[in-house]
Amino acid sequence: MDKIKKSILFFVVICLFACLSNAKTFYANGHPEVKQVALTFDDGPGKATKRVLEILEEKNVKATFFMLGVRVENDTETAKEVAAAGHEIANHTYEHVNFYSYNAADKMSIMEREISQAKKIIKDMVGVDTYLMRFPYGYSKPDGLEAAQKQGYYVINWSFGMDWEDVSAQEMHIKYKQAIKNGAIFLMHDLSKNDKILSFLRDFIDEIRAEGYEIVTVSELLNLKQKI
Ligand SMILES: [Zn+2]
Repeated sequence: MDKIKKSILFFVVICLFACLSNAKTFYANGHPEVKQVALTFDDGPGKATKRVLEILEEKNVKATFFMLGVRVENDTETAKEVAAAGHEIANHTYEHVNFYSYNAADKMSIMEREISQAKKIIKDMVGVDTYLMRFPYGYSKPDGLEAAQKQGYYVINWSFGMDWEDVSAQEMHIKYKQAIKNGAIFLMHDLSKNDKILSFLRDFIDEIRAEGYEIVTVSELLNLKQKI
């Protein structure tokens, strides 16, 4: 009987350890008791990036930009402007493969290549050594986390985002505002013209602050540093 109890205890400890080590790689929100939020912009640098930068500068906000390797190659100057303005740059893979629907035998190696290619391009062209990443479509299955972890990355998803949905800017603004909470990570995009987000980003920043929240980068929100 003792032996069985010991085995069960051993199993529980191993499971707990596995869960905790996973939790250290994957995040979708910050601390539930801290009045801080982070703004994140995906898929750029793109057509909306410069206007997003202007608004962030005007409001003195630092955000986190999850960039695609292929976009950094195509618009290196804008990527450099984002870095020079003091924003945080993170890896959003090379060319936005949807790993939820990619089931070929080489999935793991493609995932690793998607991460490493973007990592190298951002490092070589922008001079930033990224350690935060987000998979396209928020892929967060164990194989993805493993591929990210191998290259020293934390995987960051979001607590709220819907700027791709076919709703009015007004409705979108209301929904983003309703999602303000402790530790929120807001997802937005700067790839296309994205007029809807741009039409209320200024007001949204004011509303976040009026509710007593500080706007910080993802690494500040989660208290993360580059893994050694
Ligand atoms: Zn994306």
